[in-house]
Amino acid sequence: MAKVCARCGVRFPGGYGLRLIWCKVDRFYVCRPCWEAGCGEGHGQGVKARETYGGKALAAAFGIVLILPWIPPIANDYLVLAAWRDSPLAPLGAVQEGHAAKVAGTIEDTDAVALGGHEVHGKSSWSWVWNERDSFILRNGSDAIRVETGHWYHIAPGPRPAPNRVHTDGTAYLAGDSAIVFGPVRRSENGTLYLDALVVGTNPADPSPSLLLLGFGTFLVSLLIAVFVWAAVDARTKRRDHRKAVGWRNSVDLDTNPVPRPSGLDWRANGTSWPSRARVPTLLAVVAIVACIVLLVWVSLDPHEPSDYFVLSTIVMFLSMIPILPVGVWAAYHESGPSALALSDTGIHFWYDNPYDRHLNDDLVPWSEVKVIERRKAGRSSYWALERTTGEVDNLGMLIAANRDAVVAAWRGRKAPSARSQEGAVGPA
Ligand SMILES: [Zn+2]
Ligand SMILES: [Zn+2]
Repeated sequence: MAKVCARCGVRFPGGYGLRLIWCKVDRFYVCRPCWEAGCGEGHGQGVKARETYGGKALAAAFGIVLILPWIPPIANDYLVLAAWRDSPLAPLGAVQEGHAAKVAGTIEDTDAVALGGHEVHGKSSWSWVWNERDSFILRNGSDAIRVETGHWYHIAPGPRPAPNRVHTDGTAYLAGDSAIVFGPVRRSENGTLYLDALVVGTNPADPSPSLLLLGFGTFLVSLLIAVFVWAAVDARTKRRDHRKAVGWRNSVDLDTNPVPRPSGLDWRANGTSWPSRARVPTLLAVVAIVACIVLLVWVSLDPHEPSDYFVLSTIVMFLSMIPILPVGVWAAYHESGPSALALSDTGIHFWYDNPYDRHLNDDLVPWSEVKVIERRKAGRSSYWALERTTGEVDNLGMLIAANRDAVVAAWRGRKAPSARSQEGAVGPA
């Protein structure tokens, strides 16, 4: 995080280090004044010669947010179904509370249908959905255990057609049928053990872990590793090149005592920007809110079958993209707004209260460097942009409305005479 400018040797503590500019020509990090003076604002290439806002690390963060939420449900699918397939059958009398067990036996139930389902009409077709409230006894010789079906993950087709099926080929498990059940052993309120069924079937080979899903999961994990390595190698190379440039020289700490604004300028207050030390707590608050939303959805959805988990992954992915990722970028890289502004014949002057902000931001944008100030579109919204002759674009949203209007008016006032003379030179069409 903390970084030393390779040209002036000023040490930028904590998050300020993230706001140094990476010069692609020199291959080191520099502060704003050094970028302007020492690097000549890009060695003749302008903004193309620099990298800000995390570069590849940010692209990697985006990739991770996009991919990571899908890995747990795919891994869970493989682990549950592989455990179902590969676990040895446990004697019914030897199951232990808190452990998963695979047991086989004959179904005993007072209802004719011990485990059945119902038909659900989806968008275009009917499908068979297993019940969540069915409960029965599984018996093997003198041992027996109760099976609950509230959290089933996968139920294989039962040995008989379901009596209540009309539009589907739904099946059922009836009293007297034999079945294999896999799931964690829990203790009920009255003290007896029961099996919380995850998988029910008649043959350990059905269901089997999906090879297609396993292949897709492996592909996602490889992609995740590739993205991570790509960003890590870039970060390592930059760190190495930067360290070489900085060498062993002593770094300089800035004087953090308050300094008066330069006199002779008509300063206009620009309000106070969000304090730097409030950024990380803000990000943590957003993460906590998102975690609460996911928890709330989890509790109300009570996920147990594969599609539930994939719905949750979709929710986590979208909530990570908005708002966590943008707020994280803002917390790490957003530049502080100026606390005051002044207009002169030279240009636009900015003042920042914190010495590091002062050092990382421009204190003056000369009129000679302003290419255009105009309203620009960004998606559905628009903003006031100040484009410099170097190609750098500043968003004037950091200014309060009155100050922004003053800047726009001053720019128009300066531009108007030259624009008229240009039109005059071209002549009437
Ligand atoms: Zn510097
Ligand atoms: Zn440079």
